[in-house]
Amino acid sequence: MLLCFTIINAIVCMVLYHMLDVRPRKQITQAVKWMYKEYISNDHQCFTEPNSGIIEVPVKNMKEKYYRNHLMCSVNEQSEWEADIIIEKEIDKLRISYPKYVYPVSGYLQLITVDKWNIKKLKVIIMPHSHMDPGWKSTLQSYFTTYGKNILNNIISMLSKNKSTKFIWSEMVFLSEWWNQASQNKKDDLKRLLHNKQLEITTGGWVMTDEGTAHYTAMLDQLIEGHQWLQQNLGIQPTAGWSVDPFGHSPTMAYLLKHSGINSMVIQRIHYSIKKHLAEQRSLEFFWRQGWASTDSTDIFCHMIPFLSYAIQHSCGPDPYVCCQYDFFKKQCYHGSQKVDVQSVDDNNIDTLGRQLWEQFQKKAELYRTDVILVPHGDDVRYATSLEWHNQLNNLEKLMTYINSRPDFQTEVKFGTLSDYFNEVAMSKTRFPTLSGDFFTYADRGEDYWSGYYTTRPHYKHIIRRVQDLLRSLEILFTYCLADAIRKTNQTVIDSFTDKIGDLSYIRQQVALFQHHDAITGTSTSKVMKDYGKRLHSGYQKGILLLEKILSYLAKDENEPDVDEKISMTFNWTQPHKFIDQKVINLSRPK
Ligand SMILES: [Zn+2]
Repeated sequence: MLLCFTIINAIVCMVLYHMLDVRPRKQITQAVKWMYKEYISNDHQCFTEPNSGIIEVPVKNMKEKYYRNHLMCSVNEQSEWEADIIIEKEIDKLRISYPKYVYPVSGYLQLITVDKWNIKKLKVIIMPHSHMDPGWKSTLQSYFTTYGKNILNNIISMLSKNKSTKFIWSEMVFLSEWWNQASQNKKDDLKRLLHNKQLEITTGGWVMTDEGTAHYTAMLDQLIEGHQWLQQNLGIQPTAGWSVDPFGHSPTMAYLLKHSGINSMVIQRIHYSIKKHLAEQRSLEFFWRQGWASTDSTDIFCHMIPFLSYAIQHSCGPDPYVCCQYDFFKKQCYHGSQKVDVQSVDDNNIDTLGRQLWEQFQKKAELYRTDVILVPHGDDVRYATSLEWHNQLNNLEKLMTYINSRPDFQTEVKFGTLSDYFNEVAMSKTRFPTLSGDFFTYADRGEDYWSGYYTTRPHYKHIIRRVQDLLRSLEILFTYCLADAIRKTNQTVIDSFTDKIGDLSYIRQQVALFQHHDAITGTSTSKVMKDYGKRLHSGYQKGILLLEKILSYLAKDENEPDVDEKISMTFNWTQPHKFIDQKVINLSRPK
């Protein structure tokens, strides 16, 4: 029921978006009328008078209004549900000031600096995490074997030993692979850690989906695949979203998360000037509202990471030179033009290291409205070795004990999950602004806009739409056939279709995998892209076999009609235009 509701709403949303693009007035009028008639109830404020308002204004003004107000519900400019912050309007106010790029000395200089700060009573949640790409520089299998398997094994053993330590995990494609190989004891340990809230599954998608080039139905599908896996194997439902590496963020994803049981979410890769602008207003946390919303029903609480990335050197506060010193996995940090050794915490340096870290926490808190801050502690493929776990945890625990023991610091530091953080925020009873709009196009330095991935590797972008198309057709036809067999109590057919549910799931997982932010975007290496291609091909071939089976059943069911052509499809990787050679099947009725 929820799925149907979500899909219908997503369809409405997308149709609205496309139809209200800047087009001739007549078309817009028809679109509004059609939408009103088809989908919008009478109590929907934005559409109470479909023949007035925006439809009456000239196209020229329409463009302006559309641009400012984003979507259809903004027809009524006096809407009480218009968000406090509308990104399209805010962009007009921005002065893009380019951050300096000083690679390789120190990476990017932070654009957000905090010069003035006061000591605040503060709670700090340090959240260990490890970002896992299921294919980027290496393939999914390679990442799993080299890192994923070890990280997950370490999570089980280290969290079991240390009850105060916490961790989050996001990519179900890795967790399911680990699960398939894990002993029953380890599976039980995983369940226990989830139950006692030391470990949290965040978002729970099959992958951390791209939000710019992925079709919204595929974004939803990969989320369903992950959530169903979690429900079937672990009996849990994620409530917090963690999307920190996709290249820009879409309100459509926020909408899908909201209607999938997620209450709060984190985003990261936002144009640096927008981050700075929102930080100046202390609006890096907000309720993300759909531009067309006429109530607060689409609002989802969103936390924006303030600095350059989710890595440790950009997490503890505004100064990456300082924060880098708390990445105890590294041997050295850049500090200006100097390389500085990362020191283990001991009696001689704990005063200096503890105070520096505390100052960064206090400065970071200046950017937010509450008395609690989130400090993610991780990076790509982290916590794969027990040595790293030992170094990170031992040193952090010493620092936490030190800071907590200083009454003058007025700061309490502890490990936590994403939900621990959001719960603290909720308890603060702080008022947050609402915001509507999207966060495209992303830029992380100078004039380098991440727009190339919208179109790069078009062959793969074409292929995924075709395989997705086949998958959707299969899902509909498969369900119809199985339901038909059940209705006719034909057990042989029921069994034969039930046996193929795994095939359907396999195809869905290949489509879901390709929504990863380095897959459909085309940002992986050529070797990895070919691996993705092979997986899609394999899913596609399975799909064709399943389609043949379905058509065979349907043909028999239709009083054995003539089948003029046997289905024939080929897959040609070197000639994209010959990717699929599909013959039409004529299932004509008997003469
Ligand atoms: Zn990534």
